[in-house]
Amino acid sequence: MFNTLLNLKSATVKAMEKIAGEENVLSGKEELFVYSTDSTNTTEQKEMAEVVVFPQNTMQVSEIMKYAYKKSIAVTPRSGGTNVCGACLPKKGGIILDFSKMNKILEINKDNLLCKAEPGVIIEDLQKAVEKYDLFYPPDPSNLKVSMLGGSIGLSSGGPHTFKYGSTKDFIIDLEVVLSDGTILNTGCDCSKNVTGYNLTQLFVGSEGTLGVITQATVRLIPKPETKRVMLAYFDTLEDTSKTVNDIISNLITPSVIDLIDKNTINTIESFYPTGLLTDKTAALLIEIDGFKSALNEQYEKIIEICKNNNSSYIQTASTKEEEERIWISRRSSFGATAKLAPNVMTEDVVVPRDKIVPLVKGIQYICDKYSLKTCIMGHIGDGNIHPNIALDLRNSIEKDNFLKAKKELFELAVSLGGTLSGEHGIGCEKSEFINLALNQNSIKIMKQIKKLLDPKNILNPKKIFSEE
Ligand SMILES: Cc1cc2nc3c(=O)[nH]c(=O)nc-3n(C[C@H](O)[C@H](O)[C@H](O)COP(=O)(O)OP(=O)(O)OC[C@H]3O[C@@H](n4cnc5c(N)ncnc54)[C@H](O)[C@@H]3O)c2cc1C
Repeated sequence: MFNTLLNLKSATVKAMEKIAGEENVLSGKEELFVYSTDSTNTTEQKEMAEVVVFPQNTMQVSEIMKYAYKKSIAVTPRSGGTNVCGACLPKKGGIILDFSKMNKILEINKDNLLCKAEPGVIIEDLQKAVEKYDLFYPPDPSNLKVSMLGGSIGLSSGGPHTFKYGSTKDFIIDLEVVLSDGTILNTGCDCSKNVTGYNLTQLFVGSEGTLGVITQATVRLIPKPETKRVMLAYFDTLEDTSKTVNDIISNLITPSVIDLIDKNTINTIESFYPTGLLTDKTAALLIEIDGFKSALNEQYEKIIEICKNNNSSYIQTASTKEEEERIWISRRSSFGATAKLAPNVMTEDVVVPRDKIVPLVKGIQYICDKYSLKTCIMGHIGDGNIHPNIALDLRNSIEKDNFLKAKKELFELAVSLGGTLSGEHGIGCEKSEFINLALNQNSIKIMKQIKKLLDPKNILNPKKIFSEE
């Protein structure tokens, strides 16, 4: 700020102002501090960016990349900044490319079931816009009110609807991408089917801004389900909970949501955002089905029967919008409630084949108990994707040390069960040192060669995914 007042702007700041306009550039110390964070409670020391730029269009992004390439300056793409794996931390300083001002929905095409949008569009706004045409964009991270399309593509975000519909990767058919040297390319086309050459679209989805910068996306849409029904079923054992999920699927029902909430999570939600959850139960399943009204009642009754056959000790059904909302509010409050337990919450995102859910959840409980960590477990049980939310004070060196030990053991456990480090949150810099646990050396070598080809100077979001960069 002081430097800015004295007009001691660096050459990079001046160059960014020339490309994007002074009003779209921040370089004050406080501003840089704020934009050099994301939603991660990082355990590492914080690096600061030199400048934050809010580009308005693809040509500006290309010009910014050309400048950064020429000068070998690091560039960190950023949309909502809500990731929880340190994916937006500017580990080598440089430029933060913030997409919140490139937030236009460019086209909704009902006949072709697609929507074209800029990376700064908020996911909920996208969903609401297409709903007006009776269309549906299912991938919705639980923080859909703040997360944006560009970042959700950067991480291939999932969310509650993944079990039935798939995650972000299943809905992207074309991307406009700017490479590290400023080259602009398209990866696909407006067709939902496309086997013309290599699948570049999927290469960029989930690449955490390390291979290219997304300036426009074409997403696939589906017809909006006519209606939904939701329930919360409580169980006294994890085995009964897991068997219920399998039995629902065996009965040819595909719930649109099937999420697990453990006892600690139930208790924590009830302590801070009470909605009448039953705190004496081991676990609860939030089950939502969607489709035609005429078909749903039969499925709803069948699910209740399956839950009862598996010893569900209580089933909270919902017959009004308010009752449905109450169930959803409790589920969506889980992270916020856990955040009230301690100054920091570390969220992990391990995933295993669904038949390993019980050993995974019990293993997580064992590890966290061993290290005296307050842990609330919830997750997308249908996908085998579990989120232990660990509440702690990172200023306390013992707690921090215990957390780091537990984190390593959690990853080892998931991998030993045939799973991996992340189902939907990504690797960023928070899990990069563990990537060797989950990928073999040949895979890592190929990935690094792809990175080198597309970003030879390693300026795009450096020090992410792979620890040694
Ligand atoms: C309370 C809470 C709940 C959450 N729930 C879920 C959930 O249910 N499911 C889930 O999957 N995730 C969840 N997340 C994690 C995260 O918020 C989501 O993954 C979200 O979609 C990220 O979007 P964003 O716009 O904030 O991305 P950002 O954090 O801005 O960026 C994410 C990554 O994408 C890259 N990136 C951003 N924009 C671009 C671009 N234009 N071009 C190239 N790369 C880019 C960044 O460099 C970074 O690597 C949750 C997070 C919080 C805090």
